[in-house]
Amino acid sequence: MKAELIAVGTEILTGQIVNTNAQFLSEKFAELGIDVFFQTAVGDNEERLLSVIDLASKRSNLVVLCGGLGPTEDDLTKQTLAKYLGRELVFNEEASQKLDDFFATRPQYARTPNNERQAQIIEGFIPLQNITGLAVGGLQEVNGVTYVVLPGPPSELKPMVNEHLVPLLSINHTKLYSRVLRFFGIGESQLVTVLKKLIDNQTDPTLAPYAKTGEVTLRLSTKAKTQEEADAKLDALETQILSVKTLEGVELSQLHYGYGDDNSLAQVAFGLLKEKGKTITAAESLTAGLFQASLADFSGASEVFNGGFVTYSIEEKSKMLQIPLEDLQSHGVVSAFTAEKMAEQSRFLTNADFGIGLTGVAGPDELEGHPAGTVFIAISSGEEVRSIRVVIGGRSRSDVRYIATLYAFNLVRQALLNA
Ligand code: ATP
Ligand code: MG
Repeated sequence: MKAELIAVGTEILTGQIVNTNAQFLSEKFAELGIDVFFQTAVGDNEERLLSVIDLASKRSNLVVLCGGLGPTEDDLTKQTLAKYLGRELVFNEEASQKLDDFFATRPQYARTPNNERQAQIIEGFIPLQNITGLAVGGLQEVNGVTYVVLPGPPSELKPMVNEHLVPLLSINHTKLYSRVLRFFGIGESQLVTVLKKLIDNQTDPTLAPYAKTGEVTLRLSTKAKTQEEADAKLDALETQILSVKTLEGVELSQLHYGYGDDNSLAQVAFGLLKEKGKTITAAESLTAGLFQASLADFSGASEVFNGGFVTYSIEEKSKMLQIPLEDLQSHGVVSAFTAEKMAEQSRFLTNADFGIGLTGVAGPDELEGHPAGTVFIAISSGEEVRSIRVVIGGRSRSDVRYIATLYAFNLVRQALLNA
């Protein structure tokens, strides 16, 4: 099915309103497995609307018109499509009844002849009732092209589409099923490089990478009739992807931490902490509480987090965490030693199961001879403490701080998976 969306309304062309209906409909149609090849906007003008309908009818087999179903002079969508198809407008009984009821209960509104238009549909069309308004929509196939007429206000268009149009279009249709794989510890360019063969040969399912700050996602999509059929195809591709190795020889399965658009490393780490009944704390320098704030974003945070430390200066690191100042001075604030001590002491002082230490150079200036973006992150579990050094290069201060917390959450995730 090749679909074309036509938004009718001069306001769109003059920039007074944004064509949000196009975005909504495109998303819906993608879910239904219908390809949208064209989006058009045209003013409230019969001649130009006729030319757009004519063009769409020749290159598409699903033509969706939205807007211009109202009672006023500039609302001419139905009339114009009727004219193009050589059909009359007829009254739809249910919509007429709705109009009668509306005015019967609102004597303060004068009913004018042009109101009647809202209850009209093109002869032979299947009516699409308006749940939240008065103007009735419609759908009909004529000479191999399916025409759909929808109201302009999103508050009317959306319910009509969800309740009436989608069920009609879903019949005999395959749907688009997607799965999002999330990765941490590999950049988009390397991921695309190691998956080049799979990406180049993709037809169904398709594979699309997206770069996010500090992480990459892969969207796998397939058209199928049922969820089971889709799952089988997506499972097969996922298995292939996860067995691919990075240039450093690490299997992608090691870097794959979760699924879904609305997921995050913080969420996964938080979920594991809750599942295993563990508590966590942190002492944060360059991130100044960002790690702890991310935890507090989740409801139920108090089950895993009791409190922690923001120790920005060397004096506070020493004082609040009870680490001898000379030790911090001799090893440097930006060091594995300091990160590990911060992790251990925060854990010890709050009696938590895990402690995180974050210290580094947010930038843009260097510190203690370390370039901006150098971060030491440590995790202490009581039994052991370990730390990593990462260099988050070429990033803004806020990105360095954010990505540093991602590394910290990844350490928590790894520790809990192995626990
Ligand atoms: P009405 O009965 O309100 O006149 P209508 O079906 O005739 O409805 P339009 O006159 O085209 O629709 O638009 C009515 C209002 O709906 C616009 O002022 C605008 O707020 C909103 N609207 C119309 N088209 C769109 C669109 N494509 N995207 C977002 N909003 C839209
Ligand atoms: Mg209108």
